[in-house]
Amino acid sequence: MSEHSVWSYSAVLMGSPILLKLFSHDEALASRVFSLIKQYEDLFTVNRANSQVMDINHAAGRHPVIVSRPVYELIKCAKAASQLPGSAFNLAIGPLVKLWRIGFKGDSVPDADEIAARLCITRPQDVILDDAATSVFLAQPGMEIDLGAIAKGFIADRVRDYLHQQGISDGLINLGGNVQTLGSPQGGWIIGVKKPFAAGDALVGSIEVVNKSVVTSGTYERYFEQDGKLWHHILDPRSGYPLNNELDSVTVISTDSLDGDIWTTLLFGLGVEKGCALLRQRQDIEAIFVSKNREITLSSRRQFHFTPLDASYRLTD
Ligand code: FAD
Ligand code: MG
Ligand code: MG
Repeated sequence: MSEHSVWSYSAVLMGSPILLKLFSHDEALASRVFSLIKQYEDLFTVNRANSQVMDINHAAGRHPVIVSRPVYELIKCAKAASQLPGSAFNLAIGPLVKLWRIGFKGDSVPDADEIAARLCITRPQDVILDDAATSVFLAQPGMEIDLGAIAKGFIADRVRDYLHQQGISDGLINLGGNVQTLGSPQGGWIIGVKKPFAAGDALVGSIEVVNKSVVTSGTYERYFEQDGKLWHHILDPRSGYPLNNELDSVTVISTDSLDGDIWTTLLFGLGVEKGCALLRQRQDIEAIFVSKNREITLSSRRQFHFTPLDASYRLTD
């Protein structure tokens, strides 16, 4: 085998296909990486009865819960993102996620009254944090934290750090939409940008990155159809319904996958024009917007090279 041979290791964790790429044959390292991901899943999950986040949710309206440092820090970061002016990100969206059940068995459009009732218990300011105690208190009964839009980003960064500690200079972890890369094998990692709603691995383009995270959020990832309409899993915390604008997907390129995960949601809420305007103030974050009308907009291209791969999509200038 040549010195550039890639070994791929896969697993299913967090309800998602997980892919690890290394330049050495090291089953033991791959299994340590998967256990690390599993440990974080066990802390953050809301898809099982027990986890530290579920402990907080179960105690809503009753008492604060002391949690471990990573859980506390991630919740603190998610609360800050939720409180940015006009933010579409909301860590307290749990009651609405559970109501819609998008991507899970039995998903259907809920009653408007039920959506309105749940909106009242999704206020980020009702997530009360205590730095000294590392405790979290949900002030209203029925409140639920959901870290689904941020946890994979956090975990991808921890995997990167772990691989660095293990002396790995080149590698890739894909947590199902959240990619974090180390190093630059043969010039850079090539990451595909999926063609929305297309079968298989069809791409609208690919990018080449070095030591960057690439996170994509799309309406096509988890959705169901009802009444001739498509209902996807990124909810608008103002209306309680899926975010409805010109976008099919947003891909964010950044150093940390945590930022990428937060920003895909923020940018989804802003749309192309406002999103690009905001990114002009952030040299470290860039985005690729894929619109329903088959336009691709790049916020800039400092940290990546974009190659279009589908002639039915137009690259805007
Ligand atoms: P993103 O766009 O990054 O996030 C969308 C997700 O965030 C939604 O699915 C919802 O959970 C939440 N959300 C929706 N609207 C908002 C909003 N406005 N603000 C903030 N958050 C919002 N899936 C399974 O099928 N089975 C599992 O057992 C399972 N376990 C998981 C355990 C963990 C620890 C994590 C992190 C995820 C798990 N998932 C599981 C996947 C999860 O349900 C979400 O689908 C996934 O996290 C969405 O990530 P994304 O990158 O595709 O989308
Ligand atoms: Mg996200
Ligand atoms: Mg994500």
